[in-house]
Amino acid sequence: MSSAEVSAVLEMRAVDMEFQLGGLVGKRTTLRALSGVSLRLEAGRALALVGESGSGKSTCARLLSRVYSPAAGQVLFRDGDVAPLRGKSLDAYRAQVQMIFQDPFGSLNPTQSIAYHLERPLKIHRHGLSSKEVREASEALLLQVGLVPAAEFLKRRPHELSGGQRQRVAIARALSVEPSVLLADEPTSMLDVSVRLGILNLLEDLKQQRKVASLYITHDIATARYFAEDTAVMYAGHVVEQGPSEAITANPLHPYTQLLIESVPNPKNKITGSSARRATDIPLWTAESRGCPFASRCPRVTDICRETMPEATVVGDGHTARCHHL
Ligand code: ADP
Ligand code: MG
Repeated sequence: MSSAEVSAVLEMRAVDMEFQLGGLVGKRTTLRALSGVSLRLEAGRALALVGESGSGKSTCARLLSRVYSPAAGQVLFRDGDVAPLRGKSLDAYRAQVQMIFQDPFGSLNPTQSIAYHLERPLKIHRHGLSSKEVREASEALLLQVGLVPAAEFLKRRPHELSGGQRQRVAIARALSVEPSVLLADEPTSMLDVSVRLGILNLLEDLKQQRKVASLYITHDIATARYFAEDTAVMYAGHVVEQGPSEAITANPLHPYTQLLIESVPNPKNKITGSSARRATDIPLWTAESRGCPFASRCPRVTDICRETMPEATVVGDGHTARCHHL
């Protein structure tokens, strides 16, 4: 099913986001953290948002969860603009759109049991449940995220669990309010390699069974296609390429996406994936910057690239890229 035929659960349309960077009054710089970003999240599907640190991925998640409001453009939930939401309607929206963070420890209270972490949102979201029903619902959630025997895990505190188990608790808590959207911001990057796949498989099951719309933020383009049907590649606040994950990884067309794919560590060739090609600073993109943000690193750069950022060109079924030299 191509994405154009399905209506989005949550969508960003041509969103700009700016931050004022320090300095004395009159000497401030306006950082343009996002420029014209459009993303769509659909029920039962995942979109991977890929890019180096500082490219604007977490800013997208904060806009989608309405921590920030856009400087321009719109965030739409089931076709309704979320900007005017206040009070109870904002609380209801935030329950629908749940975040899962990189560091599960940071979002759990070390002095409280796992039972506390699950029962609290259950009581608020599904008021009217008896204590017994709340306990049963908590156990069902732990069962669903693979923490058994559930009664044992309910008694424990966060530090008595492994990193992977803590992330499972964070996911169970997000599910307790029956969200329609999950925003997972680098959910496996602080976990041991050996448990990462288990968390991704869990997110995959939830996507299929609960039909949640998922955003999967990662700096690792290689894992994106295992979980996400679609991928958007960001560079300095711009989506430079977007489309089906298979097409993006098999046939990357933007020079930045090509660089990311070439940089994926390959056991057959120990030299690629070295820091030499990877860690280059993303330019500071300000309100005054123009052209393509990748121009300073791009092997195909010509004069026009320093002048204007091209619009997206359709290069395949649902696959677009923004480059003058495709
Ligand atoms: P990513 O998640 O891709 O690493 P972020 O979205 O966190 O990137 O940040 C994008 C850019 O916006 C970075 O240059 C970052 O320093 C800047 N930024 C993010 N949040 C703020 C903020 N609250 N104030 C100022 N600058 C910010
Ligand atoms: Mg981030």
